[in-house]
Amino acid sequence: MHYVVLTLFKEMVETIMNTSIMGRALEKGLIDLDVIDIRDYAENKHNRVDDYPYGGGAGMVMQAGPVYKACEAARDLIDGKDQTKEKADEKKRTRLIYLSPIGRPFTQDVAKELAEEESLIFLCGHYEGIDERALELEADDYISLGDFVLTGGELPAICIMDAVARLIPGVLSNDESASDESFEGNTLEYPQYTRPEEFMGMRVPDVLLSGHHANIKQWRREQSLIRTRDRRPDLFEKVELDKKDKKFLENEKRKDI
Ligand code: SAM
Repeated sequence: MHYVVLTLFKEMVETIMNTSIMGRALEKGLIDLDVIDIRDYAENKHNRVDDYPYGGGAGMVMQAGPVYKACEAARDLIDGKDQTKEKADEKKRTRLIYLSPIGRPFTQDVAKELAEEESLIFLCGHYEGIDERALELEADDYISLGDFVLTGGELPAICIMDAVARLIPGVLSNDESASDESFEGNTLEYPQYTRPEEFMGMRVPDVLLSGHHANIKQWRREQSLIRTRDRRPDLFEKVELDKKDKKFLENEKRKDI
């Protein structure tokens, strides 16, 4: 996976991406990262890339010219670096994602969809956002991290790169497996415990110490169902329940009465 990030704050992206598991994946060459400073494409001697909004109103808007040129530079970089002969013949356009509160919400399913791509370009806005004309020309996808407003697109881009990269084979070690996690089958993950067996009077549930794999699996499934039902009713509606699940949940309901 080759990521290219277009930003006004290169350091922010590079510092975080070079840390921990992402840093290791970069070192191993499992992911590739190029960060382009949009300011390098400024069209004035003061290196300014923002201007007042037409029609008035608060804040500044990033200008179309520098953003458009930076996007084109990202496409050239990817084509130059990654395109084998077959890919060049296909002329497949790398998906350019504009991080924005008006985008589609980012979820684990979207992460899986993006992990299928060979390269991704992330365009990070700042101030009041970006001149619409640059977006019309360049943005293939709009993604939001959630229903809140951040100061810039860097943190959403980093979150997405992280969530996508950990789905790429080899990025996680066996100890950090991406299977059996929250959102698989629309459930939240069961509670986890490690040593010691007792902490401040609280014991690890006996079943986890039993070594009985089938019972452990069943207990984890039940905990996932209870958690999802109680914490995320919206997700719980989408869970496919089998006979065993339904019986368990019925019994739980009776206990509550
Ligand atoms: N004026 C914009 C609006 O009301 O939708 C908000 C602009 S925000 C202050 C500046 C930049 O931060 C945006 O261009 C976008 O790149 C990024 N951003 C802010 N919140 C975001 C979110 N929830 N998801 C993704 N990107 C976000």
